[in-house]
Amino acid sequence: MIARVIVDISSSQVDRVFDYLAIDGAVRGSRVLVPFGARNIEGYVIDLAESTDVPPDKLKSIYSLLDDRPIVSEEFLALCDYMTARFHLRKIDVFRLFLPAKMRGDRIKALEKSIVFVNPEYADADPALFIKKSAHAQAEVFEYVRESGSVEQSYLNAEFSAAAVRNLISRGIFATRTETVLRTPYKGIVKKDNEITLTDEQRAAADCIMTSERPTLLFGVTGSGKTEVYLDCIEKTLQAGKTAIMLVPEISLTPQVMRIFRSRFGDDVALLHSGLSDGERFDEWRRLLLGSAKVAVGARSAIFAPLENIGLIVIDEEHDSSYISDSNPRYITREVAFFRARHNGARVVMGSATPSMESYHAAQNGSYTLARLPNRINKRDMPDIELVNMCREATYGNSGMFSAKLVAALDECLKAGNQAILFLNRRGYSSFVMCRKCGYVAKCEDCDVSLVYHKEDDVLKCHYCNRRYAKLDLCPSCKSPHIKQGFMGTERIVEQVNAIFPSARIIRMDNDTTRTKDAHLRILGDFASGNADILVGTQMVAKGHDFPNVTLVGIIDADMSLHFSDYRAVERTFQLITQVAGRAGRERKAGRVILQTYSPNHYVYRYAAAYDYEGFYTKEINLLQATDFPPFTDVLRLLISCENESVALDATKLAIDGVRAVAAVFPDEFVYLNAMRAPKKRIQSKHRMQVLMRIRPNNAVVRAEIYRVADEVAAAFPQATCFTEINPNDLS
Ligand code: ADP
Ligand code: ZN
Ligand code: ZN
Repeated sequence: MIARVIVDISSSQVDRVFDYLAIDGAVRGSRVLVPFGARNIEGYVIDLAESTDVPPDKLKSIYSLLDDRPIVSEEFLALCDYMTARFHLRKIDVFRLFLPAKMRGDRIKALEKSIVFVNPEYADADPALFIKKSAHAQAEVFEYVRESGSVEQSYLNAEFSAAAVRNLISRGIFATRTETVLRTPYKGIVKKDNEITLTDEQRAAADCIMTSERPTLLFGVTGSGKTEVYLDCIEKTLQAGKTAIMLVPEISLTPQVMRIFRSRFGDDVALLHSGLSDGERFDEWRRLLLGSAKVAVGARSAIFAPLENIGLIVIDEEHDSSYISDSNPRYITREVAFFRARHNGARVVMGSATPSMESYHAAQNGSYTLARLPNRINKRDMPDIELVNMCREATYGNSGMFSAKLVAALDECLKAGNQAILFLNRRGYSSFVMCRKCGYVAKCEDCDVSLVYHKEDDVLKCHYCNRRYAKLDLCPSCKSPHIKQGFMGTERIVEQVNAIFPSARIIRMDNDTTRTKDAHLRILGDFASGNADILVGTQMVAKGHDFPNVTLVGIIDADMSLHFSDYRAVERTFQLITQVAGRAGRERKAGRVILQTYSPNHYVYRYAAAYDYEGFYTKEINLLQATDFPPFTDVLRLLISCENESVALDATKLAIDGVRAVAAVFPDEFVYLNAMRAPKKRIQSKHRMQVLMRIRPNNAVVRAEIYRVADEVAAAFPQATCFTEINPNDLS
């Protein structure tokens, strides 16, 4: 028998199937070791065959099986085919998504413990017959184990004499066996009875989700109780003997959320997120694989949870950009979810207070079912959003970053003993270093993007390659000392708040302060427990956290995401404002939101301040339709990068010629097509060129043709990389 194997090497040259002589037990989905070149490497059997074109003297045999069962199910084999075709991925890169990273290469194993029990021969005997009178330690541990039955050896070693334990084992008085133990996160949280009864609105939404043949979009304002609806649907799914997947954005995987799930579903739930240790993640994954856990809760990658018989897939905060993977392997989580739902006959629900244009459009045209929760559970109104025109502040002589109104509101909030959040919109914004005299902007020599000043290290850094540069005292171009350290960053805000309110306790949350594992959870925990008065942060503070004492939210620079060169910029701004505003006044206390802007007349602010999602949607979707952007087209990009500029240019020429030939065959499908340098012309010394196109949406035939062109380019120019993106978050 011939086994067709994908080997665990990610390179376009190796992205094909290799034939090996099968060994006993190797079946579709087995993880195996195979000889490859001079060594053995891991691989996956994707099929078995009777014959091969490989000549017998060249045909090698699989070296060994790595697990006692096939690890990739038939569903995942089919999903791999689907994903490689749809997103133009290498097979091995898709397989890598299916297994916990540390499992590959056997870097992690099940944790085993030694269990000690009394050898039955000695169980009823008089210990005086085999334990010397002077050996008190042996007598003591013997009695303990005899009474307890079986005990972990590590416990005995710690609590009693390890030497005595060893002695009794060596003489056969104690026997041992090994057991696999699971490293379970949040083990301490026990299952509790559910005390919440759904409101009529929630009941109707849950029923709609569980009966709809199509995916359901759950459009519910913040605080409308969407989570309870999901929990109810998951419970029904488990009662029907099926399993469920619940996806949330990584940043909202707070201990709060995990507690909710564990207390509702106990050991039935497995948590998959980056804050767990490798061992914990591996064990949670294994519990899903073995069927001892039936609900997977996690970020994007939890869509690959090894569950069978899935009855429900929940995508919470469906508009969140983290559901689109922007680096290899690039994929769209929702489309993977739809595949798994089709395969398993499962329901899908996507929830949001600010659905993406795409999803709401699909709900309008009937591809999705729409369920609504228009009211907050506590009936509290959403906080007022007050716009402040920052241009007017400047004419009145206030050139600082806080308006008079925001300062007064902060003062009032602090005096009342409440908490405030100051939100800095970092999306698409660069805090560049500029000469005020000649306009020189400091850029990375390798990447051609603006450098950012980091106060803590007192250096300039490139955010794309991490290269560091000495801070500028004089302009390199005109020697002027008037260097402006860009726009404000969170550090500058903290500094300025400190200057105005010296006694306020402030914590900062941004990419710099949350590098380490769990850092963002620690910061949020600190703030929630009242250890600070003001939380200054970027996007990360916007996501579903509950802070009952927050009565004021200040949005320092609302416009920053508005002027970003991205068709989703306005939509993202609306979502951010609505989300950040939802942080104020969640509990008993009323909240207030102060939004500072240099474009107070932009329609996005009018709709956001009125909490008018549907008005905003109507305006925005018409603009997208008029300008031919998604969901009315797919944005596709072939990105070519190479250290050698002329190779990059030649490859791009081949790419654009190839795509033009496709466009000649399908003229009605192309709305836009052009080749150019990418906005970031160089990153890590590589020149970046792109073929950018917009095509009619969901045309698999045209996509496949474009992917074929990309493959041809990659084959013709091995030094260059060429990859494809569909509707990416970021076109830089
Ligand atoms: P959303 O996810 O829509 O923002 P949540 O699910 O966080 O809203 O619900 C907001 C609050 O209302 C939570 O504290 C939740 O426990 C509470 N809640 C939800 N449904 C009910 C209900 N039927 N009865 C009482 N409290 C509820
Ligand atoms: Zn200068
Ligand atoms: Zn750089």
